Amino acid sequence: MTHLIPCPFCRSTNIDPEGWASTDRAGPACDDCAGTADTVELWNTRPAPHPVHAYVEGYEFRFDGGGAYTPNDRDKAMLEDAIEGYLSPPRLSKSLEEINKVFIDATQDAQAEADQIGLPRVGV
Ligand SMILES: [Zn+2]
Repeated sequence: MTHLIPCPFCRSTNIDPEGWASTDRAGPACDDCAGTADTVELWNTRPAPHPVHAYVEGYEFRFDGGGAYTPNDRDKAMLEDAIEGYLSPPRLSKSLEEINKVFIDATQDAQAEADQIGLPRVGV
């Protein structure tokens, strides 16, 4: 029998070694989340799950006065999202060209207003 490591996406061990069968591919597929790989070797040599996922998976908050809180699956998903969001670099919703155009338009508008009220031109 082919050894397959747990699914890197959902940690399921319910993996069909030939579950991914399409016209040009046949490789392992997770029966729980439909994660796939081209070959058994690729499936078994994927990088370890993201360290944030591993961290949250084993997270337990211990109170100073004793006792502990272990998050349920929903809380773990929320913690993972929050940490991922905190760690990831900010993403621009517009391209740099679009942002540059906004600045140029604003500068031209300001210059037009300044010209209208007779302010002297400064700068370049
Ligand atoms: Zn899976």
